[in-house]
Amino acid sequence: MDESGNDIDVLIAGAGPVGLAAAIELGQRGIRCLVVERNDRVGYAPRAKTTNVRTREHLRRWGIAGKLRAASPIPPDYPANVVFATRMNGPELARFGNALNGSRARNDMYSEEAQWVPQYVLEEVLRQHASSLPGVAVRFNTELVSFADDGRAVTAELRDVRSGAAIRARSAFLIGADGARSTVREAIGARMLGEGAYSRNFNIIFRAPDLAARHKHGPAIMYWMVNEDVPSVLGPMDEDGLWFFMATKLANDVDPETVEPAELIRRGTGLADLEIEVVGRDPWVAHRLVADRYEKGRVFLAGDACHLHPPFGGFGMNMGIGDAVDLGWKMAAVLQGWGGPGLLATYGIERRRVHERTIAEAVINYGAVGNQLVRPGLEDPGPLGDATRREVGEIIEATKLREFRTLGIVLGMRYEDSPIIVPDGSEPPADHFMLYTPSAHPGCLAPHLWLADGSSLYDHFGQGFTLLATTGDLAETVQLMAGAERLGIPLKVLAPGDRRLRGRYGARFALIRPDQHVAWRGDALPGDAAALLARVTGAIGKGAA
Ligand SMILES: Cc1cc2nc3c(=O)[nH]c(=O)nc-3n(C[C@H](O)[C@H](O)[C@H](O)COP(=O)(O)OP(=O)(O)OC[C@H]3O[C@@H](n4cnc5c(N)ncnc54)[C@H](O)[C@@H]3O)c2cc1C
Repeated sequence: MDESGNDIDVLIAGAGPVGLAAAIELGQRGIRCLVVERNDRVGYAPRAKTTNVRTREHLRRWGIAGKLRAASPIPPDYPANVVFATRMNGPELARFGNALNGSRARNDMYSEEAQWVPQYVLEEVLRQHASSLPGVAVRFNTELVSFADDGRAVTAELRDVRSGAAIRARSAFLIGADGARSTVREAIGARMLGEGAYSRNFNIIFRAPDLAARHKHGPAIMYWMVNEDVPSVLGPMDEDGLWFFMATKLANDVDPETVEPAELIRRGTGLADLEIEVVGRDPWVAHRLVADRYEKGRVFLAGDACHLHPPFGGFGMNMGIGDAVDLGWKMAAVLQGWGGPGLLATYGIERRRVHERTIAEAVINYGAVGNQLVRPGLEDPGPLGDATRREVGEIIEATKLREFRTLGIVLGMRYEDSPIIVPDGSEPPADHFMLYTPSAHPGCLAPHLWLADGSSLYDHFGQGFTLLATTGDLAETVQLMAGAERLGIPLKVLAPGDRRLRGRYGARFALIRPDQHVAWRGDALPGDAAALLARVTGAIGKGAA
């Protein structure tokens, strides 16, 4: 117990990817966290496979990007192809390379490529790292039952699910990263608004060691089966011939509980005699829902607890990890005393816009799955069938490209309307779902560069704020540094001496936040350094600085 009577600083409900990411973001900053998880381990969800560029950049910042690369059962140089075909034994219709920017080619726009890796592997890498941090404890078989926020602290009632024993924990804050059926969301009276349960789908995890050799489409991360019978998506999941299979938009008269999974896979793939061992079944429904509030008092929601949408584009978990990062550095700043009273309120303001923009994209992607792409006669032999296949191939190329070229969504999200971002009067870069335009317009992600020594510019940023002097001129930075020191704000001054930076950032100086977004930029540092620092840390409102 500390002097304020708290056992810990932050209680996190849920050891899914989002709860674990929050624990890491906080724990790396020396904050004491307890993560409680009702399951006996991580990794029950065989759902996400796309760990996107931005999430991997966070992993790099946490020092575990290499660990995830090494841990993945899918080799990192496995081709990031997506193939569309009528069936696994049928003709190809279209293909996309470097899907989701998963190819291991260096690109100046980002410091890490995306990775195709099962969610359970990522969760275990996150768990190991979280548990290795002093001050972070992950407690399994422990459920958050209820809590009370008295304005000074949150007192939670926990339950050991094996013994039934009740445990009480008092913390400064509570994060509800407890997924789609969030107890925390319910308790703070938040409601999910939008369209719920608008279509049913069925995922199957299965082992078929022969499958890779039973088709001629070559290695790919996803194979989309476009046929009238069982429109579906499948792809490699793990070693030893483990695959996932997803039947999309089941007809209303199909009960997933009664469906014979192996039969569905054989029909969808066209491989009637494929040896299949069904390992898991996971029916899921598509939602388009966002919580009407993300916080109440000392309690905050993150991840699936406050947003749910179809998984097409691979955004859900990744966006939740983004929530954990945004909330994590701000909560740490408040607990360390340098975050102002307005800082935590910006979490909801900043993330809601990202959620709405990303979810809209996921819903568009879900509007063009195999069920919509199929045309009568698609599998007919002969020239007429060929013509239909060519036509459908062209439709796929036109409609599906955006699902696999997602940098505009993934790196182009920005916080320009946030009260802790200082506008500079410039025009923001184009807001495009596919195309990402690196820009240091305040609120945008700091433009990335590979430096001459082979390191990433991001590797040189500090854990707190970074003042980037793009022309290497450090004389003027003294006042800001002194101001930060006085206020206890962690600030690193960085002058990598790369001539490209001035053009890339469009200014001599840029003040970059702990989450690598630009808070302010200018050709001269403001005379009142304290006002700028107060603004970007939420100590004073808009209008100052
Ligand atoms: C078919 C499918 C494919 C997907 N593919 C992708 C993809 O490729 N990329 C992507 O980014 N996203 C993908 N997603 C979405 C992704 O799986 C989720 O967004 C992600 O799991 C959300 O993480 P979370 O930590 O918020 O919640 P969860 O993963 O649901 O974790 C919440 C945890 O909280 C625990 N919990 C709940 N209540 C309590 C309580 N009261 N006390 C203690 N513990 C509690 C639960 O046991 C659980 O472990 C996919 C989803 C589906 C359905």
